[in-house]
Amino acid sequence: MSPEPKADEGLIAAGSRFADRVRGALLGVAVGDALGTPVEGLPRAVLQRQPVRDFLPVSRCNYPPGTWSDDTSLTMCLASSLSELGRLDLKDVACRFVRWVEEGYWSPHGVAFGMGRTTRQAISRLRAGVPPEGAGAKGEWSNGNGSLMRTLPLPVFFHDADPQELVQAAHRVSALTHAHPRSQMACGILCLVAQNLLSALEPLAAAQQAAATAARIYASPPFAEERRHFARLLEGDLWKLPAEQVHSSGYVVHTLEASLWCLCKYEDFASVVLSAVNLGGDADTTGAVAGGLAGLTWGESAIPGQWLRCLVRAEEIRRVAASLAKVTARIAGR
Ligand SMILES: [Mg+2]
Repeated sequence: MSPEPKADEGLIAAGSRFADRVRGALLGVAVGDALGTPVEGLPRAVLQRQPVRDFLPVSRCNYPPGTWSDDTSLTMCLASSLSELGRLDLKDVACRFVRWVEEGYWSPHGVAFGMGRTTRQAISRLRAGVPPEGAGAKGEWSNGNGSLMRTLPLPVFFHDADPQELVQAAHRVSALTHAHPRSQMACGILCLVAQNLLSALEPLAAAQQAAATAARIYASPPFAEERRHFARLLEGDLWKLPAEQVHSSGYVVHTLEASLWCLCKYEDFASVVLSAVNLGGDADTTGAVAGGLAGLTWGESAIPGQWLRCLVRAEEIRRVAASLAKVTARIAGR
């Protein structure tokens, strides 16, 4: 066989692997969200006695198993904007957030479901005509995980960009709802880890390399003074901590730490996502972030089939992921 067809085969294989991982990322967010949503807010001790192992109905809303929440809706708003426009357009992303609230766009059953307080207030400002750059909350007490949970389409779209450019994009998109530097930095760090995962680093190496890059990028104000809040991650001992020292509240730093801790501790999609959900607390968001990272690492093919079959709107999520992978690959010139 001549070398040329071999090179083509290599490119096709790389392209289909990339597409599998992008589908895995978006479906992984939705699967983790759907596993966690029925038990959102339950303490860890309760889930230790009776851990989640499968999809459950969302009894408070009478929704069927496989129903996901705001984490997935807002992730899909961002993913569909990037894939349809082929560029990052904050105004378009903001419009889709407003449509989610007003029309149930990218909702599981036609109505926006599971909105957090900071996101609700920012979307009200967007609806009132405040420009996207000024809509997000800036206070230190507005550092919930509401922007972190929807950031994963960005490292896909900017997977071959300079890390500085990726981080800038993460900050701008975070600031639509969460404009405090701590939330922006959490999104930036997650994007750096995901970018490393897409360049085929193993989870622990991806996280450690991202920590080194983040230490360089976040060396000046207003981020330098935020670094102490990420010390366990940036200084490298998060991975060695026992579960009791890993928190899983709705605080953005907790969600970033917990999802990365699960990703680095376990070696398959189901174990990562179930361990994240069963940490309790903000189970749907910890599940969504960990599930997205695990899907990005191992691809759609690593997500158990019974979950994909039961997941609400799975085929539509898969279609957007496929189109995002295609647009991204074209922009990257591959
Ligand atoms: Mg949620």
